Amino acid sequence: MDTLKENLSQALGDKLETNVLLSKYSTIDVGGICDYFFTAESIEDLVRSVNVAYENKIPFMILGWGSNIVVSDFGFPGLVIKNNSSGIVINTDGCEVIVDSGLGISKLLAMVASNDLGGLEFMSGIPGTVGGAIYGNSGSKNYSISDYIKNVTLLELVADNLVLRSHDREWMEFEHRSSKIKEMNKTGGFKPIILTARFRLTPKRKEEILNSMQENLAEKRVGQPLGEKSAGCFFKNLGFVPEQAAGYLLDKSGAKKLRVGDARVSKKHANFIINSGKASAKDIRKLAKKAADLVEDNFKIKLEEEIEYVGKW
Ligand SMILES: Cc1cc2nc3c(=O)[nH]c(=O)nc-3n(C[C@H](O)[C@H](O)[C@H](O)COP(=O)(O)OP(=O)(O)OC[C@H]3O[C@@H](n4cnc5c(N)ncnc54)[C@H](O)[C@@H]3O)c2cc1C
Repeated sequence: MDTLKENLSQALGDKLETNVLLSKYSTIDVGGICDYFFTAESIEDLVRSVNVAYENKIPFMILGWGSNIVVSDFGFPGLVIKNNSSGIVINTDGCEVIVDSGLGISKLLAMVASNDLGGLEFMSGIPGTVGGAIYGNSGSKNYSISDYIKNVTLLELVADNLVLRSHDREWMEFEHRSSKIKEMNKTGGFKPIILTARFRLTPKRKEEILNSMQENLAEKRVGQPLGEKSAGCFFKNLGFVPEQAAGYLLDKSGAKKLRVGDARVSKKHANFIINSGKASAKDIRKLAKKAADLVEDNFKIKLEEEIEYVGKW
């Protein structure tokens, strides 16, 4: 066994896997293999695995449900940490909830509804983990998850040491489908890891919450290709009026006609790129470029990706 593998195995035990195919962990179903793969079942696992990757100087990434990423066909050279941490503490009197970042959004919604706590109903139908949603400030209908966040606990790099720190929502500098941490990703270097989040919700009757979640989901089903393989909206909207929506600009530019191999633009929603069969990550990226070029030619507007390209391109 080489030294690196030995170090990782020592710290992570039997759960360390090698050469894992990432396409099965991505909702758009593309991507090659990663060198190492570890499933973190708790915050302790998450902290331990990040520490061992950092100490051994290997690239690592936190994977939620893979619903907003496109992984390269050449895979990820390093350790992928699948975040399954799922603790939750509900304080009904204070209308506060503290959750682990690996908890699924759907699970969070069901649990807060059972405790008559509302506010997050607009998140209904959005796949993914709490950590992925906070990282990309997910949401719908002009609401974002950050509207309900009070603070977050992160694993950060400070003077070459990994430390746990809490920050209030202002520190996160949330923007439309982005956060300070997502912006940090563009400049390289160490990106903090979201460990837990504290939400401030509002008292609401369970029946009322479930009704509004169902309505939101039904609306999403009409407007979005939910049953197909995608990574959600590919490009960010430019603003909140319908004419500033990336889907509108793509549709008006004729993007729905485009396809590259099995990658195609959804006929239902032009901002969704679909893997309709055996598309490669390269096909997806090529199609996205063609679609963005069409908008630039027609509107002189450069669309910015909401999804992230991950791995060795
Ligand atoms: C059918 C469909 C519909 C969708 N509809 C919507 C919608 O209506 N609105 C919307 O906003 N989004 C939507 N999305 C996109 C996606 O669901 C969200 O962006 C989701 O929040 C991503 O969460 P995830 O756990 O899958 O993140 P992943 O895709 O696994 O990761 C995304 C990024 O977050 C980082 N990350 C994940 N967890 C952590 C953590 N704990 N700490 C630090 N970084 C982390 C990853 O490293 C990666 O860079 C949709 C996607 C699909 C497939």
